[in-house]
Amino acid sequence: MKKLVFATNNKHKIDEIRHLLGSICDICSLAELNFTEDIPENQTTLEGNAIEKSRFVYQKFGLSCFADDTGLEIDALGGEPGVFSARYAGEEKSSLQNIKKVLAKMHDIDNRRARFRCVIALIIDGKEYVFEGTITGEILRSPVGDFGFGYDSIFKADGYDVSFAQMTLTEKSKISHRAKAIEKLAEFLKIKIHIE
Ligand code: IMP
Repeated sequence: MKKLVFATNNKHKIDEIRHLLGSICDICSLAELNFTEDIPENQTTLEGNAIEKSRFVYQKFGLSCFADDTGLEIDALGGEPGVFSARYAGEEKSSLQNIKKVLAKMHDIDNRRARFRCVIALIIDGKEYVFEGTITGEILRSPVGDFGFGYDSIFKADGYDVSFAQMTLTEKSKISHRAKAIEKLAEFLKIKIHIE
């Protein structure tokens, strides 16, 4: 089976990807390569970061690999927090503080349009490919729900009456930005690996 390194140290993401791609390729984590350091993420776009991370792993280990980067993009804030989603309110990466900052900035704003965007950069046998998944919706006026993580409690997807934090993981995983990007990656890999 084709071996593919997922350039992340996030165990939750590794499990999610194995669940979706495990039957078509052998997903290897960085921990399994005895690499536990942070991967450089110095770019100003989600695409840039995903590509930087996958190139770093490809150059270091010479193995086919992929990396992801995700952000919440709010129209009225010019696309913020975007690439800075994790550390919007500071280096401690507190979801609570990030949410507070977003709600404070949007206090007087009626345009609540926003989207989550997930970008995956794949390097397979030296060639680069990029996949993207988005979900559009709106920023709520206050947090609702206990599930999920990050900005889930203030994001309501179009066509739904509840926030992401009121959905179970199974419900959210059917429609999320990450699920859509992973689906595109999976379709590509199925065809590519089938042909080889
Ligand atoms: P990452 O690139 O997947 O680590 O995501 C960066 C940041 O975006 C996270 O720290 C979260 O704050 C936010 N984020 C990413 N995906 C989600 C999601 O599905 N729900 C809520 N927040 C998210």
